[in-house]
Amino acid sequence: MRAVFFRDGEVEVREIEEPAGEGVRVRVRSTGICGSDLHMLEMKSPLGCVVGHEVAGVLDDGTPVVVEPSMPCGECPSCRSGDYNLCPAGAGQSLGVGRDGGMADVVRVPPGCLVHLPSNLNVRDACLVEPMAVVVHGLQRAGLEGGQRVAVIGGGAIGLCAVAAARASSATVGLSARYDHQAALGRSLGAGGIEGLYDLVVDCAGTEKAVITAVKLCRPRGKLLVLGTHWSGLPLPQVLVMMKEITVVSSFMYASNGAVRDFDVAAMLLSRQPALARGLITHRFPLAQAQQAFAVARDRKAGAIKVVLEP
Ligand SMILES: [Zn+2]
Ligand SMILES: [Zn+2]
Repeated sequence: MRAVFFRDGEVEVREIEEPAGEGVRVRVRSTGICGSDLHMLEMKSPLGCVVGHEVAGVLDDGTPVVVEPSMPCGECPSCRSGDYNLCPAGAGQSLGVGRDGGMADVVRVPPGCLVHLPSNLNVRDACLVEPMAVVVHGLQRAGLEGGQRVAVIGGGAIGLCAVAAARASSATVGLSARYDHQAALGRSLGAGGIEGLYDLVVDCAGTEKAVITAVKLCRPRGKLLVLGTHWSGLPLPQVLVMMKEITVVSSFMYASNGAVRDFDVAAMLLSRQPALARGLITHRFPLAQAQQAFAVARDRKAGAIKVVLEP
């Protein structure tokens, strides 16, 4: 089968043996390119495994599924309480990070990673469930309530998912996006411009400028939810944070809330708003054209929001 690897900052499609042994065989139908994939590529990380953690596909009997890529141990206190994103063993073992991911014809995963799709969510769009689950978990961590005013900083896939999820909770949402095509999609999802102060500001850009803007937009005793990844530390204007008594909320991946997984909520949100997947997935490439796909994903000015590989 074919699979995508990174080597010295280059994207390579290689022919490898199909994975055998334990786990369930998933024939991949869509894998999203994530900002963290681009980061690993640019850092020339020595990633020994197949890339890809935003993965949807079909089982051998035709059942469409999305794959939850975390590999928690299932036994530590965090796992037992349902907060398996905090499992010390899990994060480094994730699909596409510590073990072979989904930019391949086939991926083999433990049965616990499989999440069934609502009937009206197309498997070709279902790779979006993973980034949406990041948003669902973050908004839940921030205690979002209906009727609140929410500002989203950053118009990439995470920012636009945050707009959609906050609107679905009947929040009033303002979006600050760098590019026109992002702002246009935000408007179609119900976001207005930025005006006044907000109960909750969500950093989905991961830049210093975004954090400073976010703190300015927070109302006194408001919350700042950091969904962007600040690889070299969070550049927080602490005096302003202190003077407004802002609560800074962190969030990592996704987990479950009782019996309901963040992935289930994310799949439901996407199934209810077909316009979201239509707008977010701007490019689709066959697996063989992975190099071109990554080149498009890197070039935000070219109009890419989510670039998807389809084996
Ligand atoms: Zn991702
Ligand atoms: Zn654990």
